[in-house]
Amino acid sequence: MSKPKHFVGLDIGGSTIKSVIIDPTGKQVGGIVEVKSLVKNGFEATFGQLDIAISELCENAGITVEDIGGIGLDVPAPSSNGVIWGRANLGQDWVGTDICTKLRERTGIPVTMTNDCNAAAVGEYAIRNKHLGGLLLVAPGTGLGGGFVLPGGHLYEGANGLALEVGHISVPFREDDGSLPNCTCGLTGCMEAWVSLVALRRRLRIELGKPEWEFHDLNSAAGTIEEKAFQLRTLAENGDALAISLFKQQGHILGYGIADLVRVFDPGLIVLGGGLAEAKFRDQFLDWVKEGFNDRAWSVYRHSPIEPEKSTTDFEWAEGGDAAASIGMAYTARELFA
Ligand SMILES: [Zn+2]
Repeated sequence: MSKPKHFVGLDIGGSTIKSVIIDPTGKQVGGIVEVKSLVKNGFEATFGQLDIAISELCENAGITVEDIGGIGLDVPAPSSNGVIWGRANLGQDWVGTDICTKLRERTGIPVTMTNDCNAAAVGEYAIRNKHLGGLLLVAPGTGLGGGFVLPGGHLYEGANGLALEVGHISVPFREDDGSLPNCTCGLTGCMEAWVSLVALRRRLRIELGKPEWEFHDLNSAAGTIEEKAFQLRTLAENGDALAISLFKQQGHILGYGIADLVRVFDPGLIVLGGGLAEAKFRDQFLDWVKEGFNDRAWSVYRHSPIEPEKSTTDFEWAEGGDAAASIGMAYTARELFA
């Protein structure tokens, strides 16, 4: 008789690959194993790194590769049925390749794949092991990603694996001159063009050109707008009025967009991920998100009409940090292949 199967989650990023292994009951065995990512060198080079991670995970768990029942893989790119569709922050040979099949042929283990935000959403669900309802993850970072887990823990990916591009819903906000900001996706007026690091850079450049910020330290400081935008979080933590106004606007618009998403999905729980989950002023940021949400969400999405003291949409910060995506993929592999 063969041993009960373990499941591996592999989170492929631009600079590192983070991996975990869970036992047949879903419990993580050992810590996170990190190896260097070689994505730019192509998928074959990356597979070599995955081999290293997998053998270390097996060693930590006291099992052999034959005891792995499935692998879950996530990539920072839109994908469907194991194939990356494009706009990949990866080497070009990844796009259009059936990564799942190639890795299954190499390892002899069944493989599933999704994008990093979907993986993080499942990870946040798995970490909250008593949570039974839905979960919508919204994660502002360089861009603005999202993922939705159905009640019971099943990831919703849409018919083509392309659902939950939450950053690219349109929001009714305009620049002072009435224009809609350009989004990295080619459209204009997307939420991501207001709520992301990319948006923060644009907004900072505009604000620094205004008379009211003429004598702001960032105007006289050396450095590119990218470097200055990186300082905004620290400035906001120290009470800087310009930095606070920029994050306040991002929080409001994010809350406004979440209200529309809640009207569609009624998830019950919103988890905010991305770098701000580690910011010292995150409680204040969450207050701004809730202000924006309250402006736009009907009262039924805030309080139960039957039990008014019961909230219908809760907000929490992500808890899984860097490990959420790999945990989510191990969990997904177990759900699919156990
Ligand atoms: Zn867009």
